[in-house]
Amino acid sequence: MAQNPVYDMIVVGGGPGGYTAALYAARAGLNVLVLEKLSAGGQMALTETIDNYPGFAQGVDGFTLAETMQQQAERFGARSEYAEVTALDLTADLKVLQTSAGAFAARTVVLATGADPRPLGLPDEEALTGRGVAYCAACDGMRYKGKTVVVVGGGNSAAEDALLLTRIARKVILVHRRDTLRATKIYHEPLRQAENLEFRWNSVVTALLHDGQLNGVRLRDLTTGAETELPCDAVFVSVGRQPATELVAGQLERDAAGYLVADETTRTSLPGVFAVGDVRTKPLRQVVTAVADGAVAVHMAEQYLAGGAL
Ligand code: NAP
Repeated sequence: MAQNPVYDMIVVGGGPGGYTAALYAARAGLNVLVLEKLSAGGQMALTETIDNYPGFAQGVDGFTLAETMQQQAERFGARSEYAEVTALDLTADLKVLQTSAGAFAARTVVLATGADPRPLGLPDEEALTGRGVAYCAACDGMRYKGKTVVVVGGGNSAAEDALLLTRIARKVILVHRRDTLRATKIYHEPLRQAENLEFRWNSVVTALLHDGQLNGVRLRDLTTGAETELPCDAVFVSVGRQPATELVAGQLERDAAGYLVADETTRTSLPGVFAVGDVRTKPLRQVVTAVADGAVAVHMAEQYLAGGAL
């Protein structure tokens, strides 16, 4: 730690919320470091086209938007370090973060660690990941060009994934545990009209069938209890996300689903620690709400650093 300065702010996670916090912090004259595991953007960087982030009339690809956000923050002096955080001590005034690149200390910490795809929790699911089990249609869809694929879930992600896959795969089967989609109405009609898409309502996947490579799924009809086998080349799991908060368990208050409890101020249960983007409790997880969080977090952090309100 000796060779590293004490930062005014360390941002953990380089997604849209994290880099917006870094931008606002740098522009406010704070000495700010972003710790990012791989590359900027988080989940956003895996999104093929973002059509609901204002300012891009023709949409923008997530990877480009991520890189641009990073460059913008760095233009004002924010620093990025590619390192994995392995432990944090957030309780004292001086927060200490252990990482794969050594220890770092800061007076405030912004947690922008996001949320990862939730698995189905079925036997062999992990071993089959990349062998027919996938969690991101935009990333892995092309591997199943002309094939039969199953999408599991009924939210916006499942709807988007299913629509994308109808343009790539021969056949898409959308398996949902209820008889109606949770996804917003805008997706319903295009899904119904897709000729190569079939719905399996009130159904869940109970087994992944394989010979080392996925070749089908077993489905249970929740209304009749009947089980059937459905041959397919891939299953895209799109059943929501789980927040990356394990490292701070026990230090910060989390809700039942594991999200960091923080309101619109982004303040967590510990002074000087803020939660932005998908990782915090909030009604809508979007790029646009993540970037808003980043700006608010810096506003609150400045008050905290000035010795004012927490
Ligand atoms: P989500 O909205 O939480 O939906 C998860 C879906 O998976 C639900 O339909 C749920 O069923 C189902 N599900 C959950 N656990 C399951 C299990 N074990 N087995 C079978 N099905 C299961 O998650 P999401 O679609 O990943 O979206 C996450 C957030 O990102 C949401 O806030 C969403 O609005 C946002 N998002 C927005 C856009 C956009 O605006 N363009 C695009 C993508 C994501 P139930 O319906 O029965 O609960």
